[in-house]
Amino acid sequence: MNGFFWPPRPQHVVRTVALSSPMLSLELIEAIREILCRVDALRSVQACSDTDTHVVNELKKSIATHLAEVSAHLQDSDSRTAIGYIAEGLMGSAQFASMSQAVAALDERELVAHVGDLSTWLGKSRKTFSSAFFGTPNARLQHVSDCVDEHFTKALEQLAIDLCAPLQVVPHCSYKIIDLFGIAGEANYFPKHFAYFMPEDQGVKYSPVKRTIVFANTYRNLFEEIAVQQAPLFNWQASDLPAGEELEPYLITWFRGHDLGHSIVLEGTSFAQLSKHDRWGSMVIQEALADVFGFLLSVDEAISNRVGLKPAQMVRVYVLELLRYLLRGPRQFPDAGSAYIQLRLLQDSGVLDCKNSQSWSVDTDLFAQAMRSIAQALIDAALKGDLARFEAFISQYCPHRLAGEESDFMFGLPGCDVTLGYTQEIFEGSVNAIQ
Ligand SMILES: [Zn+2]
Repeated sequence: MNGFFWPPRPQHVVRTVALSSPMLSLELIEAIREILCRVDALRSVQACSDTDTHVVNELKKSIATHLAEVSAHLQDSDSRTAIGYIAEGLMGSAQFASMSQAVAALDERELVAHVGDLSTWLGKSRKTFSSAFFGTPNARLQHVSDCVDEHFTKALEQLAIDLCAPLQVVPHCSYKIIDLFGIAGEANYFPKHFAYFMPEDQGVKYSPVKRTIVFANTYRNLFEEIAVQQAPLFNWQASDLPAGEELEPYLITWFRGHDLGHSIVLEGTSFAQLSKHDRWGSMVIQEALADVFGFLLSVDEAISNRVGLKPAQMVRVYVLELLRYLLRGPRQFPDAGSAYIQLRLLQDSGVLDCKNSQSWSVDTDLFAQAMRSIAQALIDAALKGDLARFEAFISQYCPHRLAGEESDFMFGLPGCDVTLGYTQEIFEGSVNAIQ
């Protein structure tokens, strides 16, 4: 094992999805390809026990030269500025943090790029490793996410009333939705992320400027290739679920809601206090809060009407996503632990029936009400600054604190060994490129 796959499994079934190259000039695509090759080389050098700094410096210099070529072929000023900052951050560690923050503040219209060290999965390693990704902005889905932002204040007021909790919001990050077309280094190892939190994932903590970069095509593929595998468990037919382009607004609305959900607090909330008590438990419960707030925002009337979401379809998509997260390993990922908590509470509330391991059912009409009750339980346990309640909750519901095998927390379902892999047109000829 060379750190390619995580978590350890007897086998990994790699389901490949194609990343097609965008309509950008051939010279631009070629320069990006050269960068990706060198980033792969840098990641390999980092795996050596005696890293050769001369080789690293030469590779970085060469990447900087190709970044200058990329910049020269861009029309959009923010895209060009970002490439300049990325090159500076790559070459000089002193400027790295400020350059990363400066990129997060931009709004690129042509090309969104990252070249530099990234952390991927907390359980895999806390270190950062050489990575690069390139994508083009997805205006259609950016609009969906912007709709959620537009209605967020009003929706939060309604949530505060519904949940009888004086919810507040702390500064949150912006959102950039892209279609990924080129990726290399650690970020191209397994499993794939569909979102990066910048500059935090670059190792820059407590940045006043934050931005989530979402790979819309990867996210859709995770649903279509993995989550949907559980649809027969509920006997859901194709017409019960949104498909193709119709699916994406459901995923993006919920996920933007999840991201905004991370910023919803009460007056006495202290995640640092929870983290000091039980770091993993704090992460799990924060993910659960963000998930539940995200779902409740996605069924907010103004938001779902504006985006054009059908509540029953949203519930089905959400349940399949919970199972996708859960089956990756309830103790391996905080968001898988969060999925376990929600599924167990949904089962307790009676809206999820999973007694028969072959046939499950969900009451889509009562689902939102059950999620409001779960939100109240999580608010009591994590947002009120009451450590005794937090401890009581995690010791009852968090898989890492419960006795038993990991398989005991999968509701009788087998774990998922399917993982996404990419075939990248950029490495196999750019048929779409303009000469
Ligand atoms: Zn989260």
